[in-house]
Amino acid sequence: MRLKSPLRKWPLLVLGIAAAVLFAGGSPAQAAPKAKNVIVLIADGCSAEQYTFARWFKGAPLSFDPYRVGAVQTYIADSVIADSAPAASAFATGVRTSDKFISVGPHPDTISGVPVPPEDLRYRPVATVLEGARLLKKSTGIVATSRVTHATPAAYVAHTVSRSNENDIMEQAVYQGIDVVFGGGRRLLIPKELKGQRVDGANLYEALKGWGYQIVENRQDLEKTGSGRVFGMFAPSHMDPEIDRSRLHPDQPTLEEMTRKAIELLSRDPDGFFLMVEGSQVDWACHANDPAYLLSDLLAYDRAVAAALDFAKRDGRTLVLAMSDHNTGGFSIGNQASNGIYPQMKVEAFLDPFRKMQASSVRMWELIAPDRTTARVKAVVKEGWAMDIADEDAQQILSLAASYKDSANQAIGEVLCPKYTYVGWTTHGHCGGDVPLHAFGPGKPSGVLAAPDIARVCADAMGFDLHKLTQRLFVPAAQAFTDGRVTMDQSDPANPVVTITAAGKTAELPVNQSRLKMGERMYALEGVVVYVPNTDKAYIPLQAVQMIRGARTALPKIAP
Ligand SMILES: [Zn+2]
Repeated sequence: MRLKSPLRKWPLLVLGIAAAVLFAGGSPAQAAPKAKNVIVLIADGCSAEQYTFARWFKGAPLSFDPYRVGAVQTYIADSVIADSAPAASAFATGVRTSDKFISVGPHPDTISGVPVPPEDLRYRPVATVLEGARLLKKSTGIVATSRVTHATPAAYVAHTVSRSNENDIMEQAVYQGIDVVFGGGRRLLIPKELKGQRVDGANLYEALKGWGYQIVENRQDLEKTGSGRVFGMFAPSHMDPEIDRSRLHPDQPTLEEMTRKAIELLSRDPDGFFLMVEGSQVDWACHANDPAYLLSDLLAYDRAVAAALDFAKRDGRTLVLAMSDHNTGGFSIGNQASNGIYPQMKVEAFLDPFRKMQASSVRMWELIAPDRTTARVKAVVKEGWAMDIADEDAQQILSLAASYKDSANQAIGEVLCPKYTYVGWTTHGHCGGDVPLHAFGPGKPSGVLAAPDIARVCADAMGFDLHKLTQRLFVPAAQAFTDGRVTMDQSDPANPVVTITAAGKTAELPVNQSRLKMGERMYALEGVVVYVPNTDKAYIPLQAVQMIRGARTALPKIAP
């Protein structure tokens, strides 16, 4: 048996054998699980039309084309249009939640067709399939090309009412004891005093090393890793768009390389593994209405799915799911300029403008920004997208960009796609339609699924019950200690601590961490401690409740 908490050394040292047996919990008996391993791959912000576009450009079927089994309805608790946070939360937890929420229950303002949540579900942390896999002693991993604290990966590893709480998200991710974490976001491990972005003074980078993690920061070192637990932090913030990466940061690995390495490391675990892989920037490409960025990042995702399918086909006991969380950009093959001229829409004529594109609009705007003149715009577009654009187009890009401020690059595709290509876009935001679902392996679903069904498919395949898991990992502390006292110590506001006095003992549980201090001793917990400011409630693992009470009963099993 492997102990997965970052603090795995501590409880055995301090508690001795009897207590270790007492607190280790029941080893969950699996009810004939269908799959040993589960790999979920998410192309953020994408739908069928983008897949068709990428397939034409590739000139061959996409790796996941043969496995389209149905569709996913993407609406969230409070909107017909999903944000990535609640969309991924549904995939991770089986609970449909509200805009910007990360794996906590919804607020009561729901759309028609979505029941108003009962009081005890509102804002409360709900367990994820990654947490369930870990309790089954499986290895776990997340891979993304954004910061690993961005909405989609966050939903698998953290619980908070706002996706922008990335300090809290990274702290929880670190204390979840995940075996493999690959992506961007190194600055969130490092305190401000050392030029990072942590506001709590913690140096999680050093903490990870102390717990025996290897930390790798480039593709050469990633390639060399052969075993053990690894944090791959390949950029201070997000990684590069795929189309720019090979020129600007060739030391960053591709999504496929990260996926293959994650599978190689995780598949050494005889108990199996759970892995989530996100093609994070497909969404940003569509937000930007940028076909060059879209094709390169979507085809990078295609190769990552191919890597997962290669493994699953060899292994025979791996469920692979591939889908998007929602569509973005309202992309279409065809625009107003292609009306009525369909016979001219031959493959190479249609693809020609995209074949010549060499840079993302993000990179092009970086080159335009210091010198915002029409001459500069024309020169950069000529070099990046091989288009000879008119002065008025350049002028229009500059004036739109000024109004878009932080997302100025979005002006480029918006102005140029209708005039110089035959693809269309309706929005710089998200869309509410169903998205295609692809699945391979034991336990694969079919038909039209609601987004929360994805989590249930994963949990069923691995043989556990998400509701039982939530009850075991997230007990409302005040409810568990009506005979005692539960207080929030916020004397250091960046490092709040749940303090519990009961059964003649006092215990301290730092929020966003997985440890409990009683007397001079620190014990590792099987889940993270979550505080919800909206309700002023703290949630702690049942294991912590039992430790404080000195209870001798085994923890409840999570099998159905
Ligand atoms: Zn998204």
